[in-house]
Amino acid sequence: MAELPNKAGVVIIGGGVIGCSVAYHLSQLGFDDVVLLERQQLTSGTTWHAAGLVGQLRTSINMTKLAKYTSDLYRGLEEETDQATGYRQCGSISIAATAERFEELKRSASMAKVFDLEVNVVTAEEIAERYPLIRTDDLYGGIHIPSDGYANAVDITQALARGAKNRGVKMFQNTKVDEILRDGERAVGVRTAKGDIAADHVVICGGMWSRDLAASAGVNIPLHACEHYYVLFESVEGLHPDLPVLRDYDACTYYKYDAGKLLVGAFEPTAKAWGMDGIAEDFCFDEIAGDFDHFEPVLLDAMERFPALQEAGIQKFFCGPESFTPDVRYHIGKAPELDNCWVSAGLNSIGLQSAGGIGKVMAEWIRDGYPPVDLWEVDVRRAMPFQGNRKYLKERVSESLGLLYATHFPFRQYETARGSRKSAIHDRLIAAGACHGEAFGWERPNWYAPKGVEVKYEYSYGRQNWFEHSAAEHNAVRNNVALFDQSSFAKFRLEGADALCVINQVSANNMDVKVGRLVYTQWLNERGGIEADLTVTRLAEDAFLVISAAETETRDFHWLKSHISDGVNCVLTNVSSGTGVISIMGPKSRDLLQSLTPADMSHKAFPFATSQEIELGYAIVRASRITFVGELGWELYIPTEFMQGVYDEIVEAGASFDLAHAGYHALNSLRMEKGYRHWSHDITDEDSPLEAGLGFTVKFDKPDGFIGKDALLKQQEEGLHRRLVQFRLEDPEPLLYHNEPIWREDKIVGHITSGAYGHTLGGCVGLGYVHTEPGKSDDDVMGVNYEIEVATERFAAEASLSPMYDPGNEKIRR
Ligand SMILES: Cc1cc2nc3c(=O)[nH]c(=O)nc-3n(C[C@H](O)[C@H](O)[C@H](O)COP(=O)(O)OP(=O)(O)OC[C@H]3O[C@@H](n4cnc5c(N)ncnc54)[C@H](O)[C@@H]3O)c2cc1C
Repeated sequence: MAELPNKAGVVIIGGGVIGCSVAYHLSQLGFDDVVLLERQQLTSGTTWHAAGLVGQLRTSINMTKLAKYTSDLYRGLEEETDQATGYRQCGSISIAATAERFEELKRSASMAKVFDLEVNVVTAEEIAERYPLIRTDDLYGGIHIPSDGYANAVDITQALARGAKNRGVKMFQNTKVDEILRDGERAVGVRTAKGDIAADHVVICGGMWSRDLAASAGVNIPLHACEHYYVLFESVEGLHPDLPVLRDYDACTYYKYDAGKLLVGAFEPTAKAWGMDGIAEDFCFDEIAGDFDHFEPVLLDAMERFPALQEAGIQKFFCGPESFTPDVRYHIGKAPELDNCWVSAGLNSIGLQSAGGIGKVMAEWIRDGYPPVDLWEVDVRRAMPFQGNRKYLKERVSESLGLLYATHFPFRQYETARGSRKSAIHDRLIAAGACHGEAFGWERPNWYAPKGVEVKYEYSYGRQNWFEHSAAEHNAVRNNVALFDQSSFAKFRLEGADALCVINQVSANNMDVKVGRLVYTQWLNERGGIEADLTVTRLAEDAFLVISAAETETRDFHWLKSHISDGVNCVLTNVSSGTGVISIMGPKSRDLLQSLTPADMSHKAFPFATSQEIELGYAIVRASRITFVGELGWELYIPTEFMQGVYDEIVEAGASFDLAHAGYHALNSLRMEKGYRHWSHDITDEDSPLEAGLGFTVKFDKPDGFIGKDALLKQQEEGLHRRLVQFRLEDPEPLLYHNEPIWREDKIVGHITSGAYGHTLGGCVGLGYVHTEPGKSDDDVMGVNYEIEVATERFAAEASLSPMYDPGNEKIRR
């Protein structure tokens, strides 16, 4: 064994399938100084016991693209490395035993068309033909993916490792990283018992060990191990290697040919968290004893579906640990807390089928400093600091595992570890009938149940039980006045002599405005992509208030912080917790607020996009005239301890205005009608403001320019290849959520990025980018027939580049 080097370009911690794939792809990109360290032996953590399923269809487009790349890679890996992989393209079948599941599968089949993954919807009879070993009489149908398959996880990992080693990667087994070395806010290497290695980049691919290792370096990777089960049956008649992999989501099981045996694995609804007190130092190719009673109900259901199992002998009952995350999405990317420290961990039992894609995008991300595509849904920057809490993780991951096979109903809410972050008026909102959803730990009212209506979600793909109640809230905002609790907003103060200079460089809009002005802006990257979408209020000559979404609190804070250079006179503070937000929206909002404050709320004294401190109740609150619903309204920024008193005053005065409470579902339907973009859905770091129709926020003529200006100028000169369009389905029945393909004439030209029912427009509204030829006029883009595909059926849609609701902004500026 070669000696451990004392420096390297990249040190990868962990020799599972993920670490080896990152090494493979870095070497493929020409990184010639990569070292991988494994505490025991390659694959000895979780990888060795992966069942071997290599599926491709995920719940989002980019995740499916990554999984598709993985399959493509594995197909050719054996030939490239001369190492057997056990990869077999036998196809897969997913079956639906409920109408809702069939709808979900059909919606996925439609989504897959956006990027040419062949997914065929099949009848119960066709399933019986392709998979004669199961009962099909109760099935609604299913989907067949011919290019899915299975592989041997150990062999795949060894092949990736061999490919990497062939290109110069050095791998050291029995070499544990004891510490990630840091210099200030930068990772500079690792410490092992055999010596230190200085490194430009450190990549944590340590599986279920990653949380603790990262925490010791101040990095947050929320994940926790769970017990994960499968059973290996002796062969049954009719079993053969080319039998498709079968997924019976409704019974939480999958079936796979495994070297002459039948492997039946499970994603039971409530899993058992494991390793709460740490993981044994000598853990290496270990199994967990497992709890047969826990697994038995799933097994009994499997025997119903697969009758031959009733007679088949069990060869092995297996239980192994795997790491799960709070939202069942893995963590990749650059740690916001520590420069040059990277993360690829928390694979939620899809590590084998994800490894290829992860390795590829991680290698490109490390090379370029930015991700090759929008990867926000798995970006480690979405993790909230509190999510590293062990009690929270232990409770939440018991739900995460089962969610993999649960029906992914729109608006489905987590049931575990609830109530971690609450607004100061939480209990009052419950008394008002709030049905809370959870977002990034925050309890947020999604809709309000009128008296006598149970405060509970009933899920479906159709109109859910809250639809009419949310419609009433929507209409109250459009026609009268309503109150939203938006305390979950992220709020930062940027202060100091250089604050203007910093915020103006980062923002595409002009921040050099009068004190009291509020500016809607995007923060762009050098490629012109939208890193953040937010408002900035000038509080003083040298002080700014940044308001952003709860979802991006960590990301936005670190983006801004990373643009404050050493020696610059400016301090950034996260003040999210100290300030609550109540928004009063609707044509009667002025009258209601005027009845509560001596401040002059008239249009003249308080114009749109301005902010003032006003007296309200016993408090001084910051009132900002802005809207995300397309109506006259104010957001009130209230010190947390005054929230209850101010709320009580508003509600009391509101009685004479018929004030309604409105939730996040209404907020969404209102903003969709107005065509307001939502960062992470409609705008991301790969979309530019010009493509997104937000060119009006870009101030090209600012004296000192801004980050992303050159890229936008280039794009402007070359013309746009895609544009964000608003659609409304002509048929009021079908519902859009996201990812539905957009057809122009007979070609798919894009997909829906977000959708909601527009109660004022009388049909479902969606936003989505469509491909265009540079130089095409608006009329050319619009003057064609559009259709949106929902669960394999196409529906005619009206299209518009300007907002369908109040295009002239008359409702807002009055
Ligand atoms: C029962 C079961 C069935 C599964 N079936 C499938 C399937 O069919 N398809 C699929 O896609 N996925 C499946 N999975 C999931 C898959 O196995 C995992 O997602 C994947 O193996 C995770 O890989 P990893 O590299 O992140 O973790 P690991 O394989 O655990 O690798 C991490 C490595 O890091 C090392 N390490 C940790 N700390 C240090 C340190 N300080 N210094 C040095 N080294 C360190 C560990 O020793 C370990 O080898 C299954 C999982 C289980 C439990």
